[in-house]
Amino acid sequence: MEDRESLRRRLWAMEGRAYPAYKEIVGRYDFGLFTLKIYHVQGDPFAAPSRMGLVFVPQKLNLPVWAYATPKRAVSTADWLTRQFGLALRRVSQRRPGTGKSGLLAVDVPGPEVLARSCCQVTASQVEMRFVVGLPAAGRRILGREAANLVCEQLPELAASSLVVSPEATAQLRTHVETVEDAQALRAQLAARHLVAFVGDGSILPRKSGVSSQPLQPPQGVAFTAPASLAQTLQRPHAGPIRGLGIPEGLTLIVGGGFHGKSTLLKALILGVYNHLPGDGREWVVTRPQAAAIRAEDGRRVCEVNIGGFIGALPGDRETDSFSSDNASGSTSQAANIVEAMELGADVLLMDEDTSATNFMIRDKRMQSLVAKEHEPITPYIDRVQEIYKRFGVSSILVLGGSGDYLDVADTVLAMENYQCRDVTHQARQVAAAFPTGRRIEVKTVFPTGVPRVPNPGSMDASRGGRTKVRARDTDEISFGTEEIDLSGLSQLVSLSQTRAIGMLLHWLAGHALDGHHSLREALELAYHVLDQHGLDVLSPENPVGDLALPRLLETGAALNRLRSLRLMHNFENRN
Ligand code: ADP
Ligand code: MG
Repeated sequence: MEDRESLRRRLWAMEGRAYPAYKEIVGRYDFGLFTLKIYHVQGDPFAAPSRMGLVFVPQKLNLPVWAYATPKRAVSTADWLTRQFGLALRRVSQRRPGTGKSGLLAVDVPGPEVLARSCCQVTASQVEMRFVVGLPAAGRRILGREAANLVCEQLPELAASSLVVSPEATAQLRTHVETVEDAQALRAQLAARHLVAFVGDGSILPRKSGVSSQPLQPPQGVAFTAPASLAQTLQRPHAGPIRGLGIPEGLTLIVGGGFHGKSTLLKALILGVYNHLPGDGREWVVTRPQAAAIRAEDGRRVCEVNIGGFIGALPGDRETDSFSSDNASGSTSQAANIVEAMELGADVLLMDEDTSATNFMIRDKRMQSLVAKEHEPITPYIDRVQEIYKRFGVSSILVLGGSGDYLDVADTVLAMENYQCRDVTHQARQVAAAFPTGRRIEVKTVFPTGVPRVPNPGSMDASRGGRTKVRARDTDEISFGTEEIDLSGLSQLVSLSQTRAIGMLLHWLAGHALDGHHSLREALELAYHVLDQHGLDVLSPENPVGDLALPRLLETGAALNRLRSLRLMHNFENRN
């Protein structure tokens, strides 16, 4: 293997040459503290920057053995190292002499969630940190001395100062790892206690602004306190017992006046499927891992979903036991979102009136009288919610400020008042008894269980102009071959890097797991088994990348369900 000195000499010798000569440096270099891997060199100064990795043995970083003692801890440690490295890179990356991306140094810095990422991988034998570099140029000429300075001088300094763990930093790392482990432990206690979510006392749920992920600190931010009647004490292996709100299985309503914090609580529960970094305020807000946020999403594509439990025959005698649409309505999209989430294993559904279709949620007495059932295809959610819980074990948490009809069917009613949570289940029962709604339950049939849907892999074509083209345009949009997949309805996607991984996973599914026999869920489970065994690098084996983060199975399935070209296999089609 060549070393740092020889890389420096090579770069110096390139001074003034045409940019593509940089390609010659692809390879591995011994830097002493680490091995520098240069995976890919950009074609010109404006192209996507060059991809590199630093490979260490954990001992050289002073990483304590506990930091990678389990695969889950290794993920937390990798996350912490990435944040450290990101901070260091941000400090130097301001100075950029040269053209295009010259001088850029960047790593895939995480948001408040701690996710498995491809940029940093920690095992007992090695730690790899991947990042990108804009190799410096003046016009299209190589600035070889600048490059040597950046890669051979600055980079090793940055790595040594940010990644080698000092004794003070060890304490921080420990807090990071233990916080995540505690959250995982809290989440693991939910099922045995028949809870779907837990919100620890002292949690700070609101964010600084609608576009910030930073907590709104006290005194403006009001810390959460559980009402005594629903308080539970769960155990954290490191930080000890914690009191908080246990949200039971069944139907829970979150009621209260406008602007009193209902949606903020729901949003925290929606993101409680992820672990948060210390100081986020939502470290002790945990939700069952399979919880799915559901909303109306008019305009979405739906492919052969049995929404018959919610929507009967539509105008024009359109049957709904295998409903397809290129432009679903608010109510049909919300129905499809629920059925699809249940098909993928969701056991908690979280919905906010702000983003739900009113006619899907409720049909009151007056509407029942005015519009005869024969002319209303919708069976509103209120008439299915308990059946879905009792027969399928799927609980619901609904934010509702506008419709009291749900008081009849709720198991638990929480009220938000000036950002304080109260248990008003008892009063709600009294109100329901004192003011009967007079509405009729409109269910005539049992909620149908759909047949597992089997995607046709031939309908998932990632090619455009003869080449595979899969790209995440933004957190909420993937371009897949010639198709655009709109993910703006998926509120549990938290990072562009997850979206990138979903794009690649869909392509992987089409080539590996979907064979015209396996159902959507079976194929996804297979894919996640492979990811679990081999990590995110299976998605780009020849071409290691540092900008992927692990999405949940539910979001990956949801993305496939939104692919406009998707078709299913049918029994009458040849499955060979
Ligand atoms: P609702 O859904 O009840 O109308 P929101 O959850 O949207 O209310 O909250 C309204 C506003 O109050 C938002 O700006 C939100 O950031 C803020 N907020 C929510 N919870 C808290 C809290 N615990 N402390 C301080 N401000 C909060
Ligand atoms: Mg709201």
